[in-house]
Amino acid sequence: MNYLRRRLSDSTFISNLPNGYMTDLQRPDNAQPPPPGSTTPAKSPTTGPTPPATSPAPERKPQPSQSSGAGFFSSITNAVKQTAASAGLVEQTQVTTPKKFKILLVIDEPQQEWAKLFRGKKLHGDYDIKVEQAEFNEINVVAHANRTCNVNMQVLRNGTKVMRSFKPDFVLIRQHAFSMTQNEDFRNLVIGLQYGGVQCINSLESIYNLCDKPWAFAQLINTHRKLGSEKFPLIEQTFYPNYKEMVSMPSFPVVVKIGHAHSGIGKVKVDNHSKFQDIASVVALTQTYTTTEPLIDSKYDIRIQKIGTDYKAYMRTSISGNWKTNTGSAMLEQVAMTDRYKLWVDTCSEIFGGLDICAVKAIHGKDGRDFITEVVGSSMPLVGEHQAEDRQLIADMVLAAMNQSAEKEANAPQRPTTIQPSQGAGQKGEIVGEPTKNGAGNPPQGCLQYILDCNGVAVGPKPVQAN
Ligand code: ATP
Repeated sequence: MNYLRRRLSDSTFISNLPNGYMTDLQRPDNAQPPPPGSTTPAKSPTTGPTPPATSPAPERKPQPSQSSGAGFFSSITNAVKQTAASAGLVEQTQVTTPKKFKILLVIDEPQQEWAKLFRGKKLHGDYDIKVEQAEFNEINVVAHANRTCNVNMQVLRNGTKVMRSFKPDFVLIRQHAFSMTQNEDFRNLVIGLQYGGVQCINSLESIYNLCDKPWAFAQLINTHRKLGSEKFPLIEQTFYPNYKEMVSMPSFPVVVKIGHAHSGIGKVKVDNHSKFQDIASVVALTQTYTTTEPLIDSKYDIRIQKIGTDYKAYMRTSISGNWKTNTGSAMLEQVAMTDRYKLWVDTCSEIFGGLDICAVKAIHGKDGRDFITEVVGSSMPLVGEHQAEDRQLIADMVLAAMNQSAEKEANAPQRPTTIQPSQGAGQKGEIVGEPTKNGAGNPPQGCLQYILDCNGVAVGPKPVQAN
């Protein structure tokens, strides 16, 4: 210390010291630490009795450090701590304010801005709604048997990759969870959300069940049996689990629908037996099932949608002449909602425990007959002039469902809350960095965020703040 005191007379040495070091060094060796929690300014340290109140100690600013020697090192330590904390490398003091928001995860493409539909909305108990929106291919899920579930999300925002990790309270799924086209199988994420007990519109169970069109069609067969062909005119269909049984067809032309895909993908019109055999040889490579149905000489497609209690019916007529009216150009018109259409969509909305959002697809033939072909769930694309209204209807349904569960939660008997490390449930900060592939860098407990260096290598875990 004497050496340091001598150096204090050297103005160059002092001017080179970082902020705050000077005050530490000027303190005498025997300075005592202020009592814990003390907010009164430190008095001049003395070794003898306390000076009388009439002779106040020379005024000094309170010093947070202990003795001067310790203070020098503690200043360094503090500086290092502050730098590390601001870089997020060490655990910061946790402020345990209760979480006053619920997290809604919307799985949809970025063009559809869902957050604005929930802005300013409150839930029972004065909860705000925080909307996280991402596409299926931007998220990963870690779920635990104690019904907690962390979603790790890597999204591109203004050209920067942002990683976020949070526990969703509710999910709205507006994208197809499964298609047999490349990299479009997200059923594992649906399973993760179900495993973690996350509530969803439509139910996760129904979303999973709708991931195979013939599986859903089997439900429509039951409805057809109940209501009869007059009320529920389901198209005739044949299911082949693989190519091996695709040897003959009773009549042509037929439509062959290979596997589970959307937007007309995998649907082929087949006119004769030899072409059917050709298609069967292609199916042999796909290792999936196929369905066939008669080709309807169609006038237009029908779509009846139901969002909660709102019903709309549309007809779509091909302009370009493609037998698939969802390919090429087509004209879409809203048509009157009839009792017949209402019966179709109402009965279809009962499958798989109930579909809050669904649509029934049908083909209206030139002979005036209708043929129901399919039911789709909450991932159905919105069509027509009323898309904004439909989106608002969906948002209102989500809000009502979230409100109901917030109310249920408030009325549930209180249980002692123990914060488990794996229950880092709240919204956490953002980390900008190169993500590891497919969320591979995400912690097994789903409660840590990783700081990644520029190569995407984790340089330090950051404990999650429990909410
Ligand atoms: P999307 O994803 O748009 O719902 P999809 O991949 O589910 O389409 P389908 O709706 O089964 O495919 O078929 C695409 C289009 O092909 C239909 O909109 C309809 O115009 C036509 N189509 C389908 N099945 C038949 C059929 N049996 N007879 C005549 N046309 C058909």
